Amino acid sequence: MPFVIHGLPVSQGISIGHAHLVSHALLEVNHFQIAPRHIDAEVQRLEDAAAKVRFELRALRETSSSAQSEVTAFVDLHTLLLDDPMLVEASIRLIRERRCNAEWALVQQLEQIVEQFEIIEDTYLRQRKADVVQVVERLLKVLLGHPGSVQGKRREGSNLGTGLAGVVGTIVVAHDLSPADTIHFKNNQIAGFVTDVGGATSHTAIVARSLSIPAVVGLRHVRNVVREDDVVIIDGARGVVIVDPDERVLEEYRLRRSVYELERTKLKRLLTMRAATLDGEMVSLQANIELPGDVAQVREVDADGVGLFRTEFLFMNRDVLPNEDEQFEAYRSVAKAMGGKPVTIRTLDIGSDKALNSGGPRGETNPALGLRAIRYSLSEPQMFLTQLRALLRASYYGKVQILVPMLAHAHEIDATLTAITLAKGQLRAEKIKFDENVRVGGMIEVPAAALSLGVFVKRLQFRSIGTNDLIQYTLAIDRTDEAVAHLYDPLHPAVLKLISQTIQIGTKAGLSVSVCGEMAGDPHYTRLLVGMGLRTFSMHPAQILEVKQEILRSDSAELGTKVTKLLRQDEPERISEAVSRL
Ligand code: PEP
Ligand code: MG
Repeated sequence: MPFVIHGLPVSQGISIGHAHLVSHALLEVNHFQIAPRHIDAEVQRLEDAAAKVRFELRALRETSSSAQSEVTAFVDLHTLLLDDPMLVEASIRLIRERRCNAEWALVQQLEQIVEQFEIIEDTYLRQRKADVVQVVERLLKVLLGHPGSVQGKRREGSNLGTGLAGVVGTIVVAHDLSPADTIHFKNNQIAGFVTDVGGATSHTAIVARSLSIPAVVGLRHVRNVVREDDVVIIDGARGVVIVDPDERVLEEYRLRRSVYELERTKLKRLLTMRAATLDGEMVSLQANIELPGDVAQVREVDADGVGLFRTEFLFMNRDVLPNEDEQFEAYRSVAKAMGGKPVTIRTLDIGSDKALNSGGPRGETNPALGLRAIRYSLSEPQMFLTQLRALLRASYYGKVQILVPMLAHAHEIDATLTAITLAKGQLRAEKIKFDENVRVGGMIEVPAAALSLGVFVKRLQFRSIGTNDLIQYTLAIDRTDEAVAHLYDPLHPAVLKLISQTIQIGTKAGLSVSVCGEMAGDPHYTRLLVGMGLRTFSMHPAQILEVKQEILRSDSAELGTKVTKLLRQDEPERISEAVSRL
């Protein structure tokens, strides 16, 4: 029976594919019953996996220096959890009693443990849940014989295709996907994904847009109602998911998909055109990237530079953080690939929904308000220095500029600049080349920053508005929480005031201001931002041509007058009406 579910549209496009249910976090897990004669071998498989993980943890402990006390602490904790009878022993009981395969037994046991953790009052203990999940993930990786990732490849033994025309690829169906999970999709043929939870500007959604794969989140119970291999249609623009469609619906969506693809192809005609408004104002359209490999797509659309390189994705899905040379190679490859165009590399923005496998802020009650981004970097001076040295070294190979996330205080800027001076001094002493004039800028993404611009203007050479966080922090809306997603409003008068003020103060002083949050890549807001005076946009490469199309149709002087009037409005309906009429 066909049925339709509605959620939050986070990445446009239409996909028609086969559902692949993904269990906890990043791992795919087969669920099947084993024959009685295979029980002993299955138990042995799990015991061998536990022994291998124990060995891996021991090796990790031995290779971490005594200064890395947080690494040894988590390794010890993970070893304790691994040896807890609640985990492996209890899973072995499930294999013997219910004849579950080892992976399935582990996941069931994990779900039981997680439930128990959730009712614990003590915050510290409650948050150890993440550690149990990580231990189980390690075990599953060994059992599956590959580094854990959501695979686009269809699983052996599943019903390989229904023979329906136009049903192509895998649609991942998950309760939740972290940004670290989603980034794996870059190497896998995933046609789209749907999840129970998540918000439109969560990093998971952002990665989906950067991959140009349709995605709908906040569906609440999708994982319980979709079965493995079901045919699923995702309409990423409308937030609609159709399960088990009949031939008539399939035909309709095949048609819609072709129309959408045709529109995208037509946009390619704009490739060689400079982005200028009707009245001749030049606009710089730059790209946001997560990994160095994304630069190929940036060059394909001939972006004017990289306006935001989110370096934290280099640090995810691994137990040992990238060292200076590895980071340097990653940054240098982007700087070189972009020729002389600006490459804005943001220092680590870890915390909140972007977690590290090991280390990183832990056990926080409000991670979005916790030790995130620059706060975390300043609390880890050695790690920060390593990144700054790598960035400075890369600056010799292109037009690198350093962007600092989540600044709110003057002393954070001062401490950052001191760390940069220290890194420069070290490189000079070691006779390593770098650009002495590398520009340093700050993200304006905390209301306090937008309201104290003077502090930023005096100390930094450029500013980039992070609308995703600026909206989250101005409206006190968790950007990853679907329950409050309806309150996440880019057109709230307070948000508009902060953005326009930041742009105007910067432009008046002749200082460069860009927007690199998701608003910059949403063509619905292009004319509004042009009217506010914005001349540098940074977005996913896939959005650049659509935004360029809007710019080419805009008259900046006329928009300026209309937007000035619009900004005097306080009534939400009037504002959204005025924006749609721009
Ligand atoms: C933002 O907050 O708008 C931004 C660009 O940073 P991120 O989405 O990585 O938090
Ligand atoms: Mg941000």
